[in-house]
This record gives sequence, C-alpha cells and structure tokens, in this order.
Amino acid sequence: MSGQLQTVGDDGPERCAFCSAEAAGPCASCRRSVCGDCCTLTEGGARTWAICLDCDRKKGRSLGGAWRGLGIWLVGLLVALAAIVALMEWLAPS
Ligand SMILES: [Zn+2]
Ligand SMILES: [Zn+2]
Repeated sequence: MSGQLQTVGDDGPERCAFCSAEAAGPCASCRRSVCGDCCTLTEGGARTWAICLDCDRKKGRSLGGAWRGLGIWLVGLLVALAAIVALMEWLAPS
C-alpha cells in the first residue's frame, strides 16, 4: 500500500506527455515520455532517435528554413550562370 508515491490511480507504465497513452520511451531531446504516435524517428548519424512532436516541430522548422535558404541560393546561382552563358554566347562572334 505504501511506497507508491508516483502512481496516480492505475499502476500502468509511463504515460505519454502529449496524449496520455502508454509511453513507448523518452524523447531523445527533452526526455519527456512519448508514445509511438506522438514521436517521430529521426536519423542523426548512425543511430535512430525518437523525438517528441514538440522537438520535431522546432528542429523541422529550423532545418526547413535552412534548406529553403540554400535552395533559393542555388537557384539564384543557376540563374546567374545561365545569364552569363547566354551573354557569352551573345557576345561571341559567330
Ligand atoms: Zn502520445
Ligand atoms: Zn522532446
């Protein structure tokens, strides 16, 4: 009867921090317990990590912004190159 200070009501396993379903494991980033539905698997090097939706949203946003910036930069570079090639062909004596 005593010694169960942490349990609330039922004696089930850890609960998900988002939907209160049975937790599958802790988030690799913030250590909150999350269930299989409330976490995403991310590949960081050799290992696959499970991170919660909160951390996934933050990282996804920052990563997406970085990739979008790189994409715009690459498109700009390609357009500049195409313009230079067109200019050279136009200037070249035929
Ligand atoms: Zn959940
Ligand atoms: Zn997290």
